[in-house]
Amino acid sequence: MQRARLGLCSGVVALALGACDGAAQPRSVGLNVDEPADPLRPVAQRGAVPESARVTDYAIDAKLDEETYRIDGLERITFRNRSDAAVDHLALHLYMNAFSAGDTAWMKEGRGSHRAMGQGQQTPWGRVEVTSIGVVDGPGGLTLQPGEDPTVATVPLPTPLAPGERIEVDIGFTTYLPEVFARTGYKDDFVLAGQWFPKLAVLEPDGTWNNHVFTFHSEFFADFGNYRVILDVPKGWLVGATGVRTADEEDGGRRRVTYEAAMVHDFAWTASPAFVEHVAQYEGIRIRQLHTAETWQQAPVHLQAQEEALDSMQARFGPYPWSTITIVHPPAAAGGAGGMEYPTFFTSSPLFEIPLAAQDVVSVRLDGRFTTVHEFGHQYFQGLLASNEYEAPWLDEGLNTFANTMVLDDSPQGDWAIKVMGHTLDSGDLLRLDMQRLQGTAVVDQRADQFAETEGLYGRTVYRKTAATLRSLRNLVGHERFDAAMRTYAQRYRFAHPSPDDFIDTLTEALQDDASTPGVVALDDAVALDVRDWLHQGLRTPRSVAFAVRWVENRRGQSQGGWHRDEGGTWSRTDAGDPGVEGVVVLERSGGFVTPVQYAIAFEDGETLEGWWDGVRTTDTLLFPGRRILSVRIDPNRHLELEAKRVDNHRFALGEAREVTTEGDIADLAEAAVLAALLGVAP
Ligand SMILES: [Zn+2]
Repeated sequence: MQRARLGLCSGVVALALGACDGAAQPRSVGLNVDEPADPLRPVAQRGAVPESARVTDYAIDAKLDEETYRIDGLERITFRNRSDAAVDHLALHLYMNAFSAGDTAWMKEGRGSHRAMGQGQQTPWGRVEVTSIGVVDGPGGLTLQPGEDPTVATVPLPTPLAPGERIEVDIGFTTYLPEVFARTGYKDDFVLAGQWFPKLAVLEPDGTWNNHVFTFHSEFFADFGNYRVILDVPKGWLVGATGVRTADEEDGGRRRVTYEAAMVHDFAWTASPAFVEHVAQYEGIRIRQLHTAETWQQAPVHLQAQEEALDSMQARFGPYPWSTITIVHPPAAAGGAGGMEYPTFFTSSPLFEIPLAAQDVVSVRLDGRFTTVHEFGHQYFQGLLASNEYEAPWLDEGLNTFANTMVLDDSPQGDWAIKVMGHTLDSGDLLRLDMQRLQGTAVVDQRADQFAETEGLYGRTVYRKTAATLRSLRNLVGHERFDAAMRTYAQRYRFAHPSPDDFIDTLTEALQDDASTPGVVALDDAVALDVRDWLHQGLRTPRSVAFAVRWVENRRGQSQGGWHRDEGGTWSRTDAGDPGVEGVVVLERSGGFVTPVQYAIAFEDGETLEGWWDGVRTTDTLLFPGRRILSVRIDPNRHLELEAKRVDNHRFALGEAREVTTEGDIADLAEAAVLAALLGVAP
């Protein structure tokens, strides 16, 4: 999910496309690309898909009543017990019930609003009612047992399901969509159906169900499986959904569209008679955008962002396995549905509107096209590496945000996020600004419901502190080595449910100088980095990274003269001579995060010395007999993006002429602050 910004026809797009109004609205633009026959790409492109990961299949037949926004559905769930224990009940998500009343867990946490969109006083509630439950070829009339919140429930089974066995259950349901203000619902003739059907929770290997209530910050944790979904909508409505369209029939005033998806853990769809579709193809993947009249001319810009994201993420994290990508651009009135991810299907947000007069001085890349990059990124960090978003949201949003910044890095347009009058801010600058707001007090590796929805704490911690942590470690150990470790993680846990320990263990194992010492990376002859300890501090403690050059001076050197005793015990006196000069540096670690850090010392003779400090003590003194120091900078290569305050990282020797100034540091900080206040953007 992504915080969205709303805007109509954008100045950026007007520049890119020549015009943004007055053009006739077509029904379909772009290429004429056939729907792929298989929801998965050919095996040579996608790689192996383990059959053991297939746990839950769904066949759903659902009819939308466009007058009442009611969906009547019948689903058949096929479930395989892959645990080591017999189970005597099923556990269900009924997540549409988050919007059924003001006292659900979701509504209480969100205080009835989401991304500044509030639920209207007259807004109808949404809900899902289970109307029947029965075992196929077995007893019907099973009863639903309510859970602690209306978003969860259980169904006792007539006979326990042994390990290795499978069961088919038919569930009838009626879903009443809410008027959309958050993620799912309707607005006029636009429908976005997410979390709309009763869905199984995840059975853990020990035979216990992991079934969390739907909370404000998190919603995804489900098993992989195949879907076959028939959607019955009014004739003339365009439909988009997870997977590929395999049938499309018209009957009287209705249209029945069949979608099939393979090895996904959720299914969402959208429908509207007002859609303008834009179709493209990339490496055999059909990329379909569904716009309205407000945004359809922005399609080429989103497509470019999508292709850059595919290039970057496939190279870094392995092939995208599915054959389709559907990008929905909700109309402004349904903006609450924007910026949400579902398998092979996500919603974006419009491009940023920059006043015409400002277009020559300001350029941004963190607008709607970044939403496209972010939501696509979830196809990996959630769609493919399906972590428990409730228990460890950072494995989803945090790793995804890290990956998004890599897309910017890898872009042929270069790593910049905002340009203002020649100044360029990259994603690292923006992350650092967020670290300043955090003041290092937040712990990343916490459950989603541990975070209060105040001042964006969740976003800054789970999204941006995770990204800053990983980018800092990447800078310290070397980009190539870190990228290889991330690729190992992404490949190892495709179609699985990786945990925080899986991530930390994999990086610890993969980052090493040699196999005998996993997790130890030597930075120079004397300083090494312990990967597990470093990740522990970054992800599981509130320690902040803060360094300073506390003291620099050139003082009279220490005299070498005096009385000395030789090996035979005889004392003799040597002349003091001229002690000369001695450069003195005091480095300080004022933050609690213990990390190696580089320093650079500029001597008056023009030479610069770079070295590593282990940062273990809170201060350390470096002596340079016979040398005069001009200035000292700590973290000169800006490795530590976790460090918010950098103005004390540079210091001149006492009494030295300031031929160089600290303007660079101050300007960096000031620019970031001003721009963030001005544009309100953050990655
Ligand atoms: Zn997200």
